Amino acid sequence: MSVKTTCPYCGVGCGVVASRDAAGTVRVEGDRQHPANFGRLCSKGSALAETIGPEGRLLEPLVGGVPVTWDDALDHVADGFSRIIREHGPDAVAFYVSGQLLTEDYYVINKLAKGFVGTANIDTNSRLCMASSVVGHKRAFGSDTVPGCYEDLEQADLLVLVGSNAAWCHPILHQRMLAAKESNPACKIVVIDPRRTATCEGADLHLPLRSGSDAVLFNGLLAHLAGNGVIDRAFVGNSTTGAADALAQVVGQTVAQTAATCGVTEGAVGLFFDWFANTERVVTLYSQGVNQSTSGVDKVNAIINCHLLTGRIGRPGMGPFSLTGQPNAMGGREVGGLANQLAAHMEIENPAHRELVQRFWRAPVIAEKGGLKAVDMFDAIAQQRVKAVWIISTNPVVSLPDADRVRAALEACELVVVSDCMRDTDTTRHADVLLPALAWGEKDGTVTNSERRISRQRPFLSAPGEARADWRIICDVAGRMGYSGFEYADVADVFREHAELSGFENNGKRDFDISALATLDDRAYDALAPVQWPVTPDHPIGTARMFETQKFFTPDGKARFVPITPRAAQNATSRDYPLVLNTGRVRDQWHTMTRTGKTARLLSHVFEPYAEFHPEDARLAGVTNDGLTRLTSPWGEMIARVVVSADQRRGCVFVPMHWNNEFAGEGRVNALVNPAVDPLSGQPESKHTPVKADAYAPEWHAFILSRNEIRRPATRYWAHGKAGDCWRLELALDARPESWRDWARAQLGLEHVEIEWIAYRDPAAGRFRYAAVRDGRLEGCVFIAPDHTLPSRVWLTGLFAEAQLSANARMSLLAGRPFGEGEDKGPIVCSCFSVGRHQIAAEIRKGADSVDAIGRCLKAGTNCGACKPEISKLVGAGAPALAPPAAARALQSQV
Ligand code: SF4
Repeated sequence: MSVKTTCPYCGVGCGVVASRDAAGTVRVEGDRQHPANFGRLCSKGSALAETIGPEGRLLEPLVGGVPVTWDDALDHVADGFSRIIREHGPDAVAFYVSGQLLTEDYYVINKLAKGFVGTANIDTNSRLCMASSVVGHKRAFGSDTVPGCYEDLEQADLLVLVGSNAAWCHPILHQRMLAAKESNPACKIVVIDPRRTATCEGADLHLPLRSGSDAVLFNGLLAHLAGNGVIDRAFVGNSTTGAADALAQVVGQTVAQTAATCGVTEGAVGLFFDWFANTERVVTLYSQGVNQSTSGVDKVNAIINCHLLTGRIGRPGMGPFSLTGQPNAMGGREVGGLANQLAAHMEIENPAHRELVQRFWRAPVIAEKGGLKAVDMFDAIAQQRVKAVWIISTNPVVSLPDADRVRAALEACELVVVSDCMRDTDTTRHADVLLPALAWGEKDGTVTNSERRISRQRPFLSAPGEARADWRIICDVAGRMGYSGFEYADVADVFREHAELSGFENNGKRDFDISALATLDDRAYDALAPVQWPVTPDHPIGTARMFETQKFFTPDGKARFVPITPRAAQNATSRDYPLVLNTGRVRDQWHTMTRTGKTARLLSHVFEPYAEFHPEDARLAGVTNDGLTRLTSPWGEMIARVVVSADQRRGCVFVPMHWNNEFAGEGRVNALVNPAVDPLSGQPESKHTPVKADAYAPEWHAFILSRNEIRRPATRYWAHGKAGDCWRLELALDARPESWRDWARAQLGLEHVEIEWIAYRDPAAGRFRYAAVRDGRLEGCVFIAPDHTLPSRVWLTGLFAEAQLSANARMSLLAGRPFGEGEDKGPIVCSCFSVGRHQIAAEIRKGADSVDAIGRCLKAGTNCGACKPEISKLVGAGAPALAPPAAARALQSQV
């Protein structure tokens, strides 16, 4: 049996074919017919089958930690919300939902909140992802419309990536860009990012601009274009307004001034400006580096202004392009999942829209004003203005800024309901009621990707335990609260209503219209092929590109220039907090790791939370590569492994956002992140928090590898997860136990077991090694040292695959290093084929001089291709001076 579905991770929205054999083994491949990926999947998508196991799943409803029936749980939620609404009004409750929800789930929770409860206190983790793009689009186009499509990337002659590490965060799209460049030698790629990321491999130009100076750069570009007459006068005159004001704002801004403010060379800025000016087909792609800012909306409009001035929009191979982070952030926008939206791209501030939606829903009420956006919502919970919150499919204790305050807010909240597929997350720990939800592979519905393409997510697994679909849980609660209008027969029924509302009294006035899909019967809904909205009777097979007729959704039909005055980040660095903290993603993890953290393959690339420093900043902070650092901001603190890299811009430190208390001790970077938000979009400034760093120097460093899962210790720093055929625990210890031997046995859970022990002790040097062997097979090992110079974990993990330890392996365990050449692969670069840096270096030494050559020797990079930029960097560096790629080093080993 095979089922076509969609990857649940990023906004690229790749098609997936999942098949199950008679034994129940699931295999996942890219869908060759899906227009987003044409059969390719990145490392995360390729590993989907490894993440569907039952480990850690929430399988039954719990109230107060006690299993209850669904009826009791649903009654508890409905009664609790109804009572609080009765006593304190509708704005005393809130819903915090997720870009991981399917559109149908999103539709019904938004309908419940805004049309029946009567509050707009519903927001989503998409607020952290693309809220600034939404507002930027609306200011410019009068609607939240992504103008272009992925094909534009192949038709462009210049691709500009701003604040986007697409190689790691949108890998399949990045590979499409690189392929386009290969087949079109005239095509250039420019990367604008303070860091030299993997996306810079294969780019023609990198502008490592000063953090937050994007608006200055694009204002400078606007001035350069105007100054050189690169203006589409017909388009500007006929189809836009406000050009004079926007240009007045930038008049006189020179390349030299721009370069100086952005902290890059005048030559590099001039080259970029000239390429932009002289290339008709330009796509400017932007992502979190633009959006996650207190001036994120302005940055979006600064980019759009340049496309409006040159008329480069609504035509093949050109346009501004917002890359959405989450799989269904776009679907959430369609149903009005943000606190300041109504359903079907309608405006909550617009009385006619409110009346229309209320009439369509036959709703008793309609929220009359925007609700609490994410950060404000948790402030209101902390202040007990909001007394009940229902969190669905998201982990705000990890992902929201000032995350310790979020945790405290939930602790103080009268009623916390959490729907999730996982039992233990940093957020579920604070739930009064836990509702088990379906996960990917079990869910049924639709999602929309970055190019407005709606695709089906189809189930191929049965529901585990008592887990239920989110839309069904929400409708059941709505019914128990006494509301009618939630009696859907099935998920297709929800979709039909959503599609019907999009066309309701629309007549071309609103961009989002899929009314041609409102008449799909269940069979047609199930068979729905990927299609880009709008899908109307006039465009029954969808719409690849918007604004082709140069008509926009503003009252006068014209696009709007927005004059931009660049602003500094809200919280500046200071003598006490001299570094700018920049958060982001790593290649093989997604969000808070609840799914991607389940597979050893994806943890093999980067195992621990890390902080990446410029060498000079590392020196000043007194931290060393592979050591530990404590990062502190006015809002919180964390501990992370140190990576020192010249790829990092001076004055900035990069930390990934994924780690949490399930995978590491004190590894939540959002505990430090300032809760400053864009005043228009409410999107947090996750790319700019002032912090300080110093060395975290425990008395002892240790790691443990074991066939059995290892208990998380009560130390401040630890990192835990699967590694190959065993479990791995990294830890820092401040106190010495009475006996390292007894301690090691206890950590491995082998205190009372007859087992062979291999031990090496050097008390003078403070080095201890213990290995437990049963029937000739390695059961576990513990390595302890006074510093971080411990043996390669990759090599040791490999010993767990051996049925019988050789004499050589036993000796090497004692010695703490492999004896044979090539036994230590080095930090894993290609997670698909488990190829390490040392192996790649060896091939380079033998003469491999390209990514393809490495692929032929080692297969590395030949499956998903996500590691190709790192291989390219290694090849480019040459064998003698191999510089490990930035995060790959974090950390797999200290060799
Ligand atoms: S690029 Fe990777 S994570 Fe994103 S949708 Fe495709 S396979 Fe999934």
